[in-house]
Amino acid sequence: MIKGKGISKGVGFGKVLIVEKQDRKIKKEIAENIEKELQRFKIALEEVQKDIEETMEKSSGTEKEIMTAYLMLVQDPTLTIETENLIKNSKYNAEYATEEGFDKIVKMFEKIEDNYMAERARDIKDIKNKIIAKLFNEDNINLSQLPEKTIIVAKELTTSDTAKLDFKNVSGIITEIGGVNSHTAIMARTHSIPFITEIYKITEVFNDVEYIGMNGSNGEIYLNPSKDEENKLLEIQRKIFEENNELEKYKNIETITKDGFKVELLSNIGIPSDINKVLDCTAEGIGLFRTEFLYMDSKQMPTEEEQFFAYKEVAEKMQGKPVIIRTLDVGGDKEIKYLNLPKEENPFLGYRAIRLCLDNIEMFKIQIRAILKASAYGNVFIMIPMISSIEELRRTKEIVEQCKNELNEKNIPYKKDIKLGIMVEIPSTAIMAEKFAKECDFFSIGTNDLIQYTVAVERGNEKIAGLYSKYHPAVIKLIKCTIDGAHKEGIFCGMCGEVAGDSKFIPLLIGMGLDEFSMNSNKVLQTRKLITQLDRNECEKLVQEVINMTSSQEVKDRMEKFKK
Ligand code: PEP
Ligand code: MG
Repeated sequence: MIKGKGISKGVGFGKVLIVEKQDRKIKKEIAENIEKELQRFKIALEEVQKDIEETMEKSSGTEKEIMTAYLMLVQDPTLTIETENLIKNSKYNAEYATEEGFDKIVKMFEKIEDNYMAERARDIKDIKNKIIAKLFNEDNINLSQLPEKTIIVAKELTTSDTAKLDFKNVSGIITEIGGVNSHTAIMARTHSIPFITEIYKITEVFNDVEYIGMNGSNGEIYLNPSKDEENKLLEIQRKIFEENNELEKYKNIETITKDGFKVELLSNIGIPSDINKVLDCTAEGIGLFRTEFLYMDSKQMPTEEEQFFAYKEVAEKMQGKPVIIRTLDVGGDKEIKYLNLPKEENPFLGYRAIRLCLDNIEMFKIQIRAILKASAYGNVFIMIPMISSIEELRRTKEIVEQCKNELNEKNIPYKKDIKLGIMVEIPSTAIMAEKFAKECDFFSIGTNDLIQYTVAVERGNEKIAGLYSKYHPAVIKLIKCTIDGAHKEGIFCGMCGEVAGDSKFIPLLIGMGLDEFSMNSNKVLQTRKLITQLDRNECEKLVQEVINMTSSQEVKDRMEKFKK
């Protein structure tokens, strides 16, 4: 047995699939064998063509049209001649020649100020990336089509890799690097997939291992488990099933404390199909729709139409219950290859979320219009991530108004009084909450980011994970300041970071008067059970004690001792 750190609970059994990534840095090299490089390029190009043909055969409608256009493009010799010349004449390696050759064509297209040409430039970049991925042998494992009961073993699994996973066939994830608050871990928890991290020299450890049993709660991994070990894990699995069955009675009821204080209990989702879990746990709405997964799931920017259908589907299925759609929150640990964003020294402090959207207004407006249009089909709210200054909020509101006017002109229906709120996940905004509350309709506290920015500890960095403390008195004060600021101005305050579903934290949040809790669907029923057992007066007393504490440890000890 080996032991790591469990960051998503549950028991899993399955066959090991090692996912190895190479260093994707494209180096300029002088090729010793030009013919070999030319051959490598041609094979990669043919493989990309074959992939496009296969996707074309499986698709229909608009997707088929897009794929047909792609195929014509990839078969056009003018697209590849530059790369071939760079290999023949400059003796560059295939990877570097592809990057240079294709970029030259992209730049030519980009110079022509025409929407159609700009789209083609994007397609060419996409084809270039596909060829380079083939040259790096990156896509020899298709993560979106996995054999049944697969346990993914990888040094690190990026958020976009995880978004592609064929979740129904994944029994577990094991990595060397991974943070409890990374989006990979959040997605694993959403899909109830056990996840263990901090297994060093991981590919060596699992090299000859075929079958694994794992327990995501305590981080134990059994390599080719014996019958006894398997039985021990099966027993734990049985207990989890029993606990889940016991929670069934908390379905379809309101979430009210013992002394009659009602709160909203909502779910977080990433892609429209997550809605099934939301309906199953009878959450009272969607408090966070992380739309970036729609963008990650796609090979190119989803169109306004595609986004509209995705948001409409969710709005309709929720039948009038709130659906809070968050605008694109990309950057940080969420990468979208086709956006070709420059690498940054400090991505979490960089060009991400609303900053990127306000710098790419046309792209932003596509999403806002899609959300507005979907609002005609349900109780949709708009939520803006990573707001750090009032100017960003004001600029965003102007853009939303422009989009509304565009729809008005075309007589396209939308919810005229749609509510616009912000995520409070940056300390500057939490401190200024009262001011922000005057200019928006609601708050949702994003603790995952709020903690990292308050204590200056990157959320996915396992080396300093011990310092990433939700119990830090400064974090507690900022949460309270945000809730109080909202209430002073009469707007509601929710929370959609992981803390909202943390049983130790919930009494404190009830005591502070949080109006809405949004979390992974698999946490909803246990949270409803807990809240129904709480007394708000007792929780308020807890807040009075904790708010004046000095250290994380003190806060943690007190919250762990809190008796319902
Ligand atoms: C958060 O930061 O708490 C949050 C909910 O957003 P994300 O995890 O997607 O950054
Ligand atoms: Mg966030």
